[in-house]
Amino acid sequence: MCASYSPKAVGITGGIGCGKTTVVSAFAELGVPAFVADRVAARYYDSPDFCHAVAQTLGADVLATPDTVDKVRLAQRVFSDPEALTALNTLVHPRVMADFERWLPQQRSPYALFESAILYECGLDARMDATIVVYLDRAERMRRLLLRDRVPEERIEARMARQLPSEVLLEKADYVILNYEGNPRARQVDCVHRQILSRL
Ligand code: ADP
Repeated sequence: MCASYSPKAVGITGGIGCGKTTVVSAFAELGVPAFVADRVAARYYDSPDFCHAVAQTLGADVLATPDTVDKVRLAQRVFSDPEALTALNTLVHPRVMADFERWLPQQRSPYALFESAILYECGLDARMDATIVVYLDRAERMRRLLLRDRVPEERIEARMARQLPSEVLLEKADYVILNYEGNPRARQVDCVHRQILSRL
């Protein structure tokens, strides 16, 4: 493998509760690493510099202390104010993509996954060589999320409303994994994996 080798980037997304995390674990069993954008972004809030940048953009009232963000207040703010959400995304996404570009060449596999719940919504698919959508209809996602998160239905509805409808995701995907109970997930992942490898 030459020094400049970099794996291909494959985005994986799907409506909240569709089973992205579960499917990404199945890819991991095949040796495919994943960069989980939400997890990486969550770590930015440990950095005072990042927290200062957020306060500069959104106002000091999102701070809990001079160096830390009050995440509950921040969430409420971006939830009720689309412009604040766009401003926050403008801070977060370039950092996420820069971290991804540093991480990707360190992986030793023909391709690596980039997991994001808002891959298409934020145009991050433009950087991907291919995209996978994990699909499950809304009613079944709601049923699983009520079990998983034990939060009110309205809260889940509100989070769903910020994503593209999962049927729209289907039109955008290069590969689709149907994550219904009883569907052989491992076989679908294996099949998508082999197709991706054959097309690299
Ligand atoms: P996401 O990361 O897309 O929000 P998760 O992977 O956390 O979704 O899955 C949501 C919930 O559904 C979890 O509790 C998970 O254990 C469950 N789940 C995932 N795939 C299946 C499946 N094929 N059958 C039944 N339950 C599933």
